[in-house]
Amino acid sequence: MSLSIVPFPHPVLRYPAKTIRRVDRELKNLIAEMFDQMYEHNGVGLAANQVEVPLRVFVVNPTGKRGEGEELVCINPELNLPKGSDSDSEGCLSLPGLHGEVKRPERVRLSAFDLAGNPIERQLEGFLARVVQHEFDHLNGLYFFDRMTDEARCDLVQGLEELESDFRARQAAGSIASDEELVARLAEWESRYA
Ligand code: ZN
Repeated sequence: MSLSIVPFPHPVLRYPAKTIRRVDRELKNLIAEMFDQMYEHNGVGLAANQVEVPLRVFVVNPTGKRGEGEELVCINPELNLPKGSDSDSEGCLSLPGLHGEVKRPERVRLSAFDLAGNPIERQLEGFLARVVQHEFDHLNGLYFFDRMTDEARCDLVQGLEELESDFRARQAAGSIASDEELVARLAEWESRYA
């Protein structure tokens, strides 16, 4: 299995990920590879749909450095009790080069399961709360720019158009499959784990 991070506007990034019903060795390997990809690209979080896997799991390390900070694997996550409001700049490994100011709740309660099937119940705040909310959004097919004001999003329009025209050109050249084929591929993961 060789994963790569797919860019906007790959259809999997608008595809609501499915609840995971079982965890096996292959899924654990996938999650280890998600950490590899995240560190390789200097990210602090990565959701499974970003590597073309339509399942509800994301990985996070707020330091972005292997061997430092805390690694979190969140399977079937839920976020509750949002409190406060905070605005900060965000980027995304699926939107290379683009950044924007995003307002989010400052604190949120995370419920999820770890790799061993143990429940995670945590009150999050600050940067970790932001990263987890960003990754959680991916599982629901949302990008950070969906949460920006129309005015702030204007600054991203050109960059988004460039990403889109690059992606469509690669589809036209045959180096990326059509949207229909890309979506059809997701069914195999769903039939095995969802
Ligand atoms: Zn992202």
